Amino acid sequence: MHPIQCKCGAIRGQLEGTGTHNRALCYCTDCRAFARFLGKAPDMLDKQGGTEIFQVAQSRLRFLQGEDRLAAIRLSDKGMVRWYASCCGTPIGNTMANPKISFIGLIHTCLDQAQMNEHFGTSVAVLNVDTALGNPKPKQRGLLGVVARFMWIIVTSRISGGYRRSPLFTASGLPRVVPKILPAEELTRLKSTE
Ligand SMILES: [Zn+2]
Ligand SMILES: [Zn+2]
Repeated sequence: MHPIQCKCGAIRGQLEGTGTHNRALCYCTDCRAFARFLGKAPDMLDKQGGTEIFQVAQSRLRFLQGEDRLAAIRLSDKGMVRWYASCCGTPIGNTMANPKISFIGLIHTCLDQAQMNEHFGTSVAVLNVDTALGNPKPKQRGLLGVVARFMWIIVTSRISGGYRRSPLFTASGLPRVVPKILPAEELTRLKSTE
């Protein structure tokens, strides 16, 4: 069991059980745009603009309080659903809009830093390095393992029906909150500050 909470404590939950996971640093410009949208770049990003993400099956996620404070945004109408806490702007995690692709990439800001290594191991993949800020770029690491484990999470959630136990989607398969879609010019603005 690993605790999950937003910075102000209104949203609390936990990660239950065990299963396949990915721990990764993502240097893509979309993750950075999300951090800037929330005004959380200093908390969320490392020196080269990377976001640490912990990817698991959504069925392992359980909210204990404050579920009604969840909000979500998509950077475009086809983008991932990026969940955050409306109370304090803490980034929570990224999912697809399709409930059958049932992973969540939890963002380190809602996890317990002190227990990350013990619970998730110290092996961290490094992805999308070409768009890291500054030079030299970090070295890409662990991509094939990430892809394989990602597929495993999706397929096992699908076959076991675990995707139906996601706290993020309704029984009819819609996100629990309607994600706002960021206007294109706003995304351009968020990405132009690089
Ligand atoms: Zn909060
Ligand atoms: Zn990313």
